[in-house]
Amino acid sequence: MDLHAFFRDETIETYGEAALPSLSERDRGYVQEFFSPGESVIVLGKAVPKEAYSLSPREQTEIMLGIAEALNDTAIRLESQLTSEGIPARHIPLYLPIRIEDGRVRGVVRLKQVAAAAGLGTLGKNTLLLNPEHGPRLLLSGVVTGRSDLFNTKNGQEQKNPEDSIKENPDICIGCGKCIRACPASAIGPDGVDVFRCRTISPWVPGPVVPIAKWLIGRQLLLRCMAPLAPWIAKTATIRCSRCVTECPVFGDRNWTQE
Ligand code: SF4
Ligand code: SF4
Repeated sequence: MDLHAFFRDETIETYGEAALPSLSERDRGYVQEFFSPGESVIVLGKAVPKEAYSLSPREQTEIMLGIAEALNDTAIRLESQLTSEGIPARHIPLYLPIRIEDGRVRGVVRLKQVAAAAGLGTLGKNTLLLNPEHGPRLLLSGVVTGRSDLFNTKNGQEQKNPEDSIKENPDICIGCGKCIRACPASAIGPDGVDVFRCRTISPWVPGPVVPIAKWLIGRQLLLRCMAPLAPWIAKTATIRCSRCVTECPVFGDRNWTQE
């Protein structure tokens, strides 16, 4: 399968592949728990236009959901094409699954970490992926595949050694701390974002309900029962704050480089 042609047809410009050995031990475990034949993750991303952040919360939410759903549709088509060619593949669903880990909500496969391993950027203190071209505005989707050579077999491209990848992708975050200071809910700490404090989530899960919500998320069976409701919840929710994105110095600059 010519993945470059596939992504060109899908108008996806930002994509990459992270072979399992390029991931941390923890992320390798998550990937294989999600899809046991997994050997690599193909990550795809689309940027939210920076103008969207100055629109009303409702309009901003609609734009982001539209981009996220389009990425999810592409991931489903990629899964389908790979499977039809005999390559095991499973897309990472847009809505759920999630898990509680160290008291924090995490995706079952941590796409930001995987995208960083695939060379699409580096992680910032705001816990977002900072992409060299789009800063923190990239939304992500992914497909776990049972092969790790899908790009270089058809296109003659060398699979990057993870250490080379790190050398080629120096930290984009300058550690300025603006995201932390700008957060009106003090939700960003050294261990990441506490989503139950984040202003987009907290109206849905009032403080006293947080332990119950965490308990529910911890019960994967219940989570699966809730999954059909997730698109409805996402469509009804509104993004109430994006300050950790908009205050980041790399928010709007194309080809931003560290001073
Ligand atoms: S979206 Fe707003 S409230 Fe949530 S972590 Fe970012 S700055 Fe804080
Ligand atoms: S605001 Fe500063 S510290 Fe936060 S992610 Fe952006 S560059 Fe890093």
